[in-house]
Amino acid sequence: MPSAEPRYHRIMIKLSGEALMGAQPFGIEPEVVRKIAGEIAQVAELGVEIAVVVGGGNIIRGVSAHEQGIDRITGDSMGMLATVINALALSSAIEQLGVQTRVQTAIEMNEVAEPFIRRRAIRHLEKGRVVLFAGGTGNPYFSTDTAAVLRAIEMESDVVIKATKVRGVYTADPAKDPDAEFIPTISFQEVVARELAVMDAPAVALCKENRLPIIVLDISDRGAVASAIRGERVGTLVS
Ligand code: UDP
Repeated sequence: MPSAEPRYHRIMIKLSGEALMGAQPFGIEPEVVRKIAGEIAQVAELGVEIAVVVGGGNIIRGVSAHEQGIDRITGDSMGMLATVINALALSSAIEQLGVQTRVQTAIEMNEVAEPFIRRRAIRHLEKGRVVLFAGGTGNPYFSTDTAAVLRAIEMESDVVIKATKVRGVYTADPAKDPDAEFIPTISFQEVVARELAVMDAPAVALCKENRLPIIVLDISDRGAVASAIRGERVGTLVS
């Protein structure tokens, strides 16, 4: 039986940029951002300390910019800047629900957001502010999955919630393979051995090495994050 006391006290939520896109082919759908903000505010009400890393794939990715003739490192900088736009949109939506936030960026832009300062971020979390980490790791050739795990380790988070569009981890892509089976729990070893799509390989390796569990869940499933934090069986637990 899940207890009233949350199972996890400090969490990292990783959202892909595409999660903010809704049905649009590109960019930010305000209604979807409001819904996600609602899910985060609900978890904040449980007294859980929340950090968020958001991707930038709804605006631009380094790899696709490169395919269009922009050099890869510049493309990655563009991708990192895209995550700042998303983090600002999400922070505004969360604050409109009465929950305080702070945005910290891996690339300094002091007029827009705080720079990433680990101990300051921890202090914000302790004060109940939702901290959004933008700008990825600040380095090209990395992903925001890796940034989320890195920041989660730096914040000494108890779990990484990987918010996706599907219920959790499957044996194959459920959108393409009707025989794909849902996996409720799995070890890091198996994720690596079976090359299952959980997070990208460096992110999974960092979690494995630091014994940081991941819960993969569907962010459009209302209350899923709060249920997972209470210890209910939601999504896939990788540990
Ligand atoms: N990026 C980067 N370094 C990082 C994180 C992100 O260069 O540490 C760039 C990279 O080009 C990436 C883009 O930012 O394609 C957007 O991030 P990501 O693809 O992880 O976003 P998501 O798929 O989660 O929306």
